[in-house]
Amino acid sequence: MQFATISLKVLYNESRMPSLTVENYLKAILQIELKSGVACVSTGHLANALDVSPGTVTSMLKTLAESGHATWRPYEGVTLNESGRQVAMRIVRRHRVIELFLVQTLNLTWDQVHEEAENMEHAVSDFLIDRIDDFLGRPEVDPHGDPIPARDGALRGGTLESIPLVEYPAGSHVRFARVLNQDPEFLRYLSDSGLVVGSVATIQEVDAEAGSVTLQLATGETTLKHSSAEHLLVEILPQAVTANDESQVVDL
Ligand SMILES: [Zn+2]
Repeated sequence: MQFATISLKVLYNESRMPSLTVENYLKAILQIELKSGVACVSTGHLANALDVSPGTVTSMLKTLAESGHATWRPYEGVTLNESGRQVAMRIVRRHRVIELFLVQTLNLTWDQVHEEAENMEHAVSDFLIDRIDDFLGRPEVDPHGDPIPARDGALRGGTLESIPLVEYPAGSHVRFARVLNQDPEFLRYLSDSGLVVGSVATIQEVDAEAGSVTLQLATGETTLKHSSAEHLLVEILPQAVTANDESQVVDL
């Protein structure tokens, strides 16, 4: 009896909702799965993402498997079950809705919102998230271009094809759609260079030897290291978009 009480406490808090740790594990598994496109996530990969030891991950995965949220096979990895996926999607939805809300209503910058959302995602009710989502007009993506799951768990945005900037040749016209590296310092470096989600640019030069990509933006020219440009996903545009092009777009 004693043991049953203790193990339930690990998994659920007083209100019988999954605990913060459970939510974070399920979210991390889902995020790795979405990034890699592979449903089975290895223990090592998860340990890296959560910055904990593989031993810690293993014991938590056993607990998640016992709860029915995930299926865990030693030496293979973990796969989310339906209930675990629902919890994970709900946390991702909360996180991304909160990030956008903080940027749009409180004017926080995209490098400031992740840490705030990390805490708030466990505390805010789904009722409130639904209201904030409606208030924001059920947006497709968050300030980093990450797709926001709808209430039913389906990802809204991100259906457009976004490809790393480095894969396009000089002369391409692109729109910046999503940033994969969300380290605050990197985000500040991007916005200082005039790059935010939605920015349009023409790729001026790709210098393979120097490992750099030069972009022509509305705000001027900027040169990124190849290793930075790898983290930027862009959509290709048929032609350069300038203020004067707006009438042509309407004519189409
Ligand atoms: Zn985000």
